[in-house]
Amino acid sequence: MTKYIFVTGGVVSGIGKGISAASIGRLLKNRGLSVFMQKFDPYINIDPGTMSPYQHGEVFVTIDGAETDLDLGHYERFIDEQLTKNASVTTGKIYSTVIKKERRGDYDGATVQVIPHITDEIKNAVYDASRKTGADVVITEIGGTVGDIEGLPFIEAIRQIHSENKPEDVLFIHTVLIPNIPGSDELKTKPTQHSFKQLMSQGIKTDIIITRSEGEIDDSIKRKISLFCDVPEEAVIESKHVELIYEVPLVFHEQGLDELILKHFHLEDQPQSDGSWKEMVDRYKQAEGPVPIALVGKYVQLHDAYISVSQALLDAGYDLGRKVEISYINAEKITEENVDELLSFAHGIIVPGGFGERGFEGKVIASKYAREHDVPYFGICLGMQVGVVDIARNLAGLKGANSTEMDVETPYPVIDLMESQVGVENMGGTQRLGNYACTLTEDSRALQLYGQGEILERHRHRYEFNNAYRGELRKAGLSIAGVNEDLDLVEIIELPEASFYVACQFHPEFNSRPNKIHPLFHGFVEAAMNRD
Ligand code: GLN
Repeated sequence: MTKYIFVTGGVVSGIGKGISAASIGRLLKNRGLSVFMQKFDPYINIDPGTMSPYQHGEVFVTIDGAETDLDLGHYERFIDEQLTKNASVTTGKIYSTVIKKERRGDYDGATVQVIPHITDEIKNAVYDASRKTGADVVITEIGGTVGDIEGLPFIEAIRQIHSENKPEDVLFIHTVLIPNIPGSDELKTKPTQHSFKQLMSQGIKTDIIITRSEGEIDDSIKRKISLFCDVPEEAVIESKHVELIYEVPLVFHEQGLDELILKHFHLEDQPQSDGSWKEMVDRYKQAEGPVPIALVGKYVQLHDAYISVSQALLDAGYDLGRKVEISYINAEKITEENVDELLSFAHGIIVPGGFGERGFEGKVIASKYAREHDVPYFGICLGMQVGVVDIARNLAGLKGANSTEMDVETPYPVIDLMESQVGVENMGGTQRLGNYACTLTEDSRALQLYGQGEILERHRHRYEFNNAYRGELRKAGLSIAGVNEDLDLVEIIELPEASFYVACQFHPEFNSRPNKIHPLFHGFVEAAMNRD
């Protein structure tokens, strides 16, 4: 029998609801339960794949090729599970399913309405997750804050799930901000009380409240929340400020959150908490000294756009006993003249994924700089394409070589549209997405790092290494370290002479976990450390 946890947000968004939900997932895994997590996003886009990273941050890709909210990245890193399409539900997806059914005549002449048709479809998404995964617990985070108009059908659906199941099988957790009044230095619970009432008016009585605040809350605040929001005092859990986000599950555990949840579910007999997460956090907190890494991209004002890449870098550093210090360098600002000034501090240069022309030339200069100065280079997706363009132009003498994404007229289209992408007009969900196999080449650094010849990695791109240039680029020194044999696509390139020069067409950052560091990130950070 699956148990359901619903995490809602109150007062304001952006207070770490995703991390809280993910931490609850980790807590329950530590108690021996299997966990599946999903996110409801009440916007009308089918998925965030077409949204600007400025709006939405990173697009996280699941193994089965869903383009999803970055919170899924937190979930995967915390619970160490590979999530699927079922983990990402948007208003757009729900409506499009309902409308398709209506056109097919599935509703038998009924008037199709928000309640019950939209809400039924939302409930299906939850029950499906349970059916398909058989998880002991499904944790569903509802995006936005309660009271948002677009969130109403989701809240109504979870209310119905509560009434359709035994009360002890469904648990509501509400995350709130306790604001500090500037000047008077007073923490105020009033917004929490309002948010609680708002939820009550929609038929949901929260079981647990998780608070965020500047500074710690004292017992009097807890008592007040307990009194006004009708939860026991021990069910007011503080999400304290932590050094590492991976400490949040421990902070919750210290306050008895897992006990509380298990009691509610009548699962008191679960084993005691597995201590390996704590051991990991304790070890990571010992990390010393900086490893300066330059991340060259165009969304440098918004670090969320690269969140899985930066988290994978940080985690690799912690695991190696060092703190990685990431400097976000604006690719648009890089020129041949200033590149030394901008990048000479870095012991490693990483160019992550990206789209479009803006900043592309700066990225090519950065990868050339890394190559010429033997600074460890790690290219991801567009970062590999950038490396290929540099090598073509500057080692193979193919002047004007480019990706046709940037220049359709280039005399040497070393990166070109994949055959399967020719003629594709729709923007959403049409790229090469999700897991594909890659066979690693003997003697490659990739093989050495992975320690196995066959790997599966996640993709999100339209362009690829143009096979017509394999020979020429190889002659110039590029080595092909991994290929997808079915589609005959280059997946990894290396420069064997370099101290570390590895670039891949896929996104390894989506597979890195704090307790299972991705081998390429490990190798890159280690190489950067060797430059000390
Ligand atoms: N824009 C490139 C492509 O579509 C790279 C995509 C990416 O970096 N995710 O192939």
